[in-house]
Amino acid sequence: MTENKKPVFVTGDRPTGRLHLGHLVGSLRTRVVMQDSGKYESFIFIADMQALTDNAKNPEKIQDSILQVALDYLSVGVDPNKSTVFIQSQVPQLSELTMIYMNLVTLSRLQRNPTVKKEIEDKGFKQSIPVGFLCYPISQTADTTAFNANLIPAGEDQNPITEQGREIVRSFNAIYGDVLVESNNVLPDRKAALRLPGIDGKAKMSKSMNNCIYLSDTTEEVRAKVMSMFTDPNHIKIEMPGDTEKNPVFIYLRALATDDDIQQFEPEFGTLENLEARYRKGGVGDVRIKKLLFNVIEKILTPIREKRKYYEEHIDEVIDILEKGCEKARAVAQETVTKVRKAMGIEYFQDDALRKYSLRMKKTNQ
Ligand code: ATP
Ligand code: MG
Repeated sequence: MTENKKPVFVTGDRPTGRLHLGHLVGSLRTRVVMQDSGKYESFIFIADMQALTDNAKNPEKIQDSILQVALDYLSVGVDPNKSTVFIQSQVPQLSELTMIYMNLVTLSRLQRNPTVKKEIEDKGFKQSIPVGFLCYPISQTADTTAFNANLIPAGEDQNPITEQGREIVRSFNAIYGDVLVESNNVLPDRKAALRLPGIDGKAKMSKSMNNCIYLSDTTEEVRAKVMSMFTDPNHIKIEMPGDTEKNPVFIYLRALATDDDIQQFEPEFGTLENLEARYRKGGVGDVRIKKLLFNVIEKILTPIREKRKYYEEHIDEVIDILEKGCEKARAVAQETVTKVRKAMGIEYFQDDALRKYSLRMKKTNQ
């Protein structure tokens, strides 16, 4: 199957808005490092079909976000010469695989998926869950298996989805033979990056929750958002001891700051550990840690904004990248679809399949 080939990674994002710091630390950084290592074949896609599962009545939002996400990709270092960048809906093979895998999953298993369960709750679907939404772990399995993905760089919320994907692969292979490849998530190294909270302190920074710092935010937007962030509600005066563990400002610093950043912006402390220790003891104000965080974020976003500006001014280049990526993705996915169809015995007009079935029919009729 994939012998003698580089391992493959596949990952995507829903075009439901622009990408944010959660995406950066949860998945974008990992995929760019993996891409640049030259050790992997990489497929990175804009999951518009998945975005439509809970936005069917709002297609403009999805349409408008396609280029936004593409610009975010290119601005953080996704390189179309190294990665295939494509749009999910332009690869109809993925829908075919989804349809096939649907027969291998029960409704109750989908309803038990913890990520799906939580998202249904967050989105307030109650009893009106779009069938397509409930099935998104299945379509995600189509996305990964179509390209023989071994690895999926993603945030922690994706673990239950990938686990369900492996179950589908095992079911398929057990019935039809060893065709599909199982994938595993590659989580970020830093614990704080597994699931970056929102600026409102909620469990996850998420486009749908309106609690994000976007990669394309301006300096002034970043400043206003950081300055409005939650800290430790009990840390009222500078000299009071404060909590760092659940404090979103420190979680962001743990997810984003480097030793160099602390030495540059807070030479008095030199390391984040020292700063945290002092905050816990008392003597460090919230404005000070927010200013540090603002500087750290600005240092990260400045080159990203510059690259984004270039591509915004060369949008035809971006469209061209996507079109070529879709073409390549279709070709690779088609190889898998053909293998799957053959394994299932539904590639009727190849290898004389129908004729063989007619002989079998005669035999059973005898
Ligand atoms: P939506 O609200 O439309 O679901 P989202 O903000 O949750 O959007 P997705 O497109 O669902 O973003 O997620 C894409 C990838 O980014 C996934 O791998 C996910 O794990 C990762 N990711 C998203 N938000 C975060 C976060 N706050 N922390 C870490 N990783 C994240
Ligand atoms: Mg999401």
